[in-house]
Amino acid sequence: MVKVIRCTGEGQGPCKRCSDKGKWNRNWMSFLYMIEGYEGCYCAECVKEIQAEAGAKGVKERG
Ligand SMILES: [Zn+2]
Repeated sequence: MVKVIRCTGEGQGPCKRCSDKGKWNRNWMSFLYMIEGYEGCYCAECVKEIQAEAGAKGVKERG
């Protein structure tokens, strides 16, 4: 299970995963999330993708 924490703060920030993909995604800080074990803030879409990836990986690791 991936622990997701809502970002706090004023103004806007970029989604790390979107910007890694070359997509410039700026969101209000209150719409961004921090993921335990990951650096940076992520938009709701990317949080879903990361959770799916982490979930799939977890299932695989368990055999
Ligand atoms: Zn994103």
